[in-house]
Amino acid sequence: MIRKSYLLSPGPTPVPEKVLAAASEPVLHHRTPEFSEVFLEVSEDLKYVFQTKNNVYILASSGTGAMEAAVVNTLSPGDKVITINGGKFGERWGNIGRAYSLNVHEIKLEWGEPFTGEQLSAELKKNPGVKAVFAVLSETSSGSVYDIKSYGEVTSKTSAILVVDAVSGMAAVPCPMDEWKIDVLVSCSQKAFMTPPGLAYISLGEKAWKMYETSKLPKFYFDLKKYKKNLEKATVPWTPAVSLIMQQKKSLKMIKSAGLENVHEHHRIMAEAVRAGVKALGLKLFSKCPGNVVTAIKVPEGIDGKKLVKVMQNKYGSYIAGGQDPYAGKLFRIAHLGYMGAFDMITALSALEMTLSELGYLLEPGISVAEAEKVIKENWK
Ligand code: PLP
Repeated sequence: MIRKSYLLSPGPTPVPEKVLAAASEPVLHHRTPEFSEVFLEVSEDLKYVFQTKNNVYILASSGTGAMEAAVVNTLSPGDKVITINGGKFGERWGNIGRAYSLNVHEIKLEWGEPFTGEQLSAELKKNPGVKAVFAVLSETSSGSVYDIKSYGEVTSKTSAILVVDAVSGMAAVPCPMDEWKIDVLVSCSQKAFMTPPGLAYISLGEKAWKMYETSKLPKFYFDLKKYKKNLEKATVPWTPAVSLIMQQKKSLKMIKSAGLENVHEHHRIMAEAVRAGVKALGLKLFSKCPGNVVTAIKVPEGIDGKKLVKVMQNKYGSYIAGGQDPYAGKLFRIAHLGYMGAFDMITALSALEMTLSELGYLLEPGISVAEAEKVIKENWK
């Protein structure tokens, strides 16, 4: 049988056809005016999405590379930092920090629990001398979105920098770097940026650049001063991922012509459609602070969660994501991220219904699709 598959995971996400086609354009040499033009355009358009006046640097790496760059460009061995760990990616900040001999004070949250600016303020008072606070905008592992704005209000009144992983959240939910007083912001290509994996983005504000000057952690490939100097000459320090940058140019144009606010609104509608659908099935959301990036759903009592994901993927070609350790088998995640539209959500819910009923869960066929359709119809423009 020919099986059509549907990428419904929180990254990599589907890539629009014209963005795919851009990869087949002839490879430009990177020390040419032609490449410089593309590169400058992409750098400018990234500033639009990051909502910042700062430069946004393009790295040839996945998102974790930009996370590592954030650490090594600002800190020194032994520096005290706070990491907010509400899931796999908050945990990653701590792992990177420890790998670089930072003094990591990890705030370990239950997955899906919110964490407020007031709580952060109290932690900073208890821990004087903190140099940086590491947070995650959209914790992909738990389907949560945190209140980054409130963190910026707190850290901007201290000497600590606020470093935010917006790998899955950027361009899906609001995260205006300058307005929210974020000092270092990182993201990458394969989520809401609708481009294949392989590019990471990082931007540093003035406070973070000051810390660069005293930072003693080792850096070479990810030394952002090199990127800064080269950007002034419309180029890059190393051979860039030329074709990916040409692809990113196309998808950034799509985001710009739709308008960032409308792109956020699209994510809101998709997320609400999915939430309405799963609620109609009597399922429970996992997170207490769910976001519009990916919906994490608790596996209902009596259902094998790992099997649910396998049937969705292998039988129905619907590539949703399962839970990550320690929630493997306990939750599953449907993304509404990047180039995913209303009918992708309907597909996800329909495949979910068929899978659940096959696994013995009692439901009224079509009920989640009907509820999602209502949301889509009410909000469609
Ligand atoms: N941070 C978040 C919130 C993510 O969702 C991911 C990947 O899913 C990462 C960081 C790591 O990004 P990458 O796998 O591109 O290194």
